[in-house]
Amino acid sequence: MANENKKNLVDETKYSMDTQLIYGKAFSDKWDYAHHVTAPISSSTTFRLDSVERGAQGFIQFANSEIEEKAPIFIYDRLGEPNKDMLEENLAHVEKGEMAVSFSTGMGAISSILGVLTKSGDEIIAHHTLYGCTFSLLTNWYPRYNIKVNQVDLTDVNNIYKVLTENTKVIYFETPANPNLNIIDLEAIVNAVKEINKSRDEKNKIYTVVDNTFATPFCQRPIEYGIDFVVHSLTKGIGGFGTDMGGAIIGPKKFRDIILLYRKDFGAVLNTKSAWAILTYGLPTLGLRQRHQINSAMKIAEYLNQHPKVEVVNYPGLPNFKFHEIAKKQMKDFNGNFAPGGLLFFVLKGKNAEDSKENGRKFMNYIADYAYTMTLAVSLGHTRTLIEHPASMTHSAIPAEKLLDHQIDPGGVRLAVGLENTDDILTDLENALKQI
Ligand SMILES: *Cc1c(COP(=O)(O)O)cnc(C)c1O
Repeated sequence: MANENKKNLVDETKYSMDTQLIYGKAFSDKWDYAHHVTAPISSSTTFRLDSVERGAQGFIQFANSEIEEKAPIFIYDRLGEPNKDMLEENLAHVEKGEMAVSFSTGMGAISSILGVLTKSGDEIIAHHTLYGCTFSLLTNWYPRYNIKVNQVDLTDVNNIYKVLTENTKVIYFETPANPNLNIIDLEAIVNAVKEINKSRDEKNKIYTVVDNTFATPFCQRPIEYGIDFVVHSLTKGIGGFGTDMGGAIIGPKKFRDIILLYRKDFGAVLNTKSAWAILTYGLPTLGLRQRHQINSAMKIAEYLNQHPKVEVVNYPGLPNFKFHEIAKKQMKDFNGNFAPGGLLFFVLKGKNAEDSKENGRKFMNYIADYAYTMTLAVSLGHTRTLIEHPASMTHSAIPAEKLLDHQIDPGGVRLAVGLENTDDILTDLENALKQI
C-alpha cells in the first residue's frame, strides 16, 4: 500500500544518482513485500499459481512486452523472479538504458547478446584487445558456428571499413580495453555505424555492443553516446565485493523479449542470492567505492609514472597517456566530472623484452609473498587491490608471439585498485620495485 503510494508521490529522477543508487526506483511492481526496508532474498525455484487460468496467463505474459505492463506472474526462477527483476530495473536505470536482463556471469551475458544478434553466415567486427575469455569465445567457438570474427584496431575507426562486409552484424569492443586500457572513441564508432546503417534495412542493421565492465556506469554510460547494447560482468566493479558472479545486458526495450527467451533456453540465469547481494551491497555502494578507487588509482599512476624502473603507465587519468583526451571526453561520472576508473596497466623497464618480463615476474612474486595490500589474483573492482600478469594469466588464450599484435606488452602488469589506504599501497609498491 505504502509502496503503491510512492508510485505517485516520489519522482526519483529529481534526486542525484548517488542517492538513486541506494534507493533504486521509487516504485517497483516486482516488490511484493509491504514492510521490508531491504529486499528479502527470494529463494524459491518455483511459484504457486492460483488457478490454471492464472498459470496460462503467466506463460502468455512471459517475454511478451506488449502485455508485460500488468503485474508480473512469476512461474519458475529461470524465467524470472523478484530479486533478478529488481536488479535488472536498477541496472537499466543507472546505465541509462531502456531495459536490462541479468545473467549468471559476464560471459553468459556476452555470449547471449552475440547469440541473439548473429546467426550462421554473419560476421562480427571486434577490437583486437579483449577480455581473455571473450577472445576465446570469438576465436575458438564461433568458427564452429560459421560466424566469422574480424579483429581490428578500433582505436582507429577507419579500420572498420577494411573488414566490413554486407554480412557484418555486430561491432564489439571494450573501452577501456582489457588489459592495456586503450580507449575507443564511442562517438566516432556510433557515427560510422549510423552512416553504414543508412543503406541497410532493419533486418541487416549493424548493432554496437560495448563491454563496460572496466568503467562501470559510474565512470561511463555508452548508451548515452548512441551505443546499442552495454554488457557487464557484475562480478567486478558493480558487484564490488568479490562474493558473487553475475552478468547483464542493457539495451533497447524491443530486444527484451528475445533476450529473455534466449536466457530461458540457454539457461545462464543469475542465482537469486547473487542478484540480491548485487542489489543490496553492490549498486548502493558503487559511487562511494568508485570515487575512492579513482582517487587512489590517480595517485598510484602518478607515482609509477615518475618511477625510474617503470617504462610506461597506461591510465586514462594521466595527461601523457595516449588516449587521455578521448577518455576525458567520454569517461564522466553522473555529475559530469572526469572519472578515469580504478585500473592501471604498467610495464617495468628491462634491457630487452625478456629482461622486462623477468623483472615483472620478480616484482609480482615479491608482492605475492610480502605485500599486505595487494593480492596476486585475477578479477577487479573489489575491496582488495588485485594485481596480475595478463600475458601468463588472464590473456594466456593469446599465443605469446601474438601478444604484441594485440597491443599487450608481455611484461605488462595490471593493477585493479581496491579500497585500502592509498599510502599503504604505495609503500608495498615501493618495496616491490626495490627488488628489481
Ligand atoms: C571478468 C570480465 C568478463 C567476464 O565476466 P565473468 O563474470 O567472469 O564471466 C568480461 N569482460 C570483462 C572486461 C571482464 O573483466
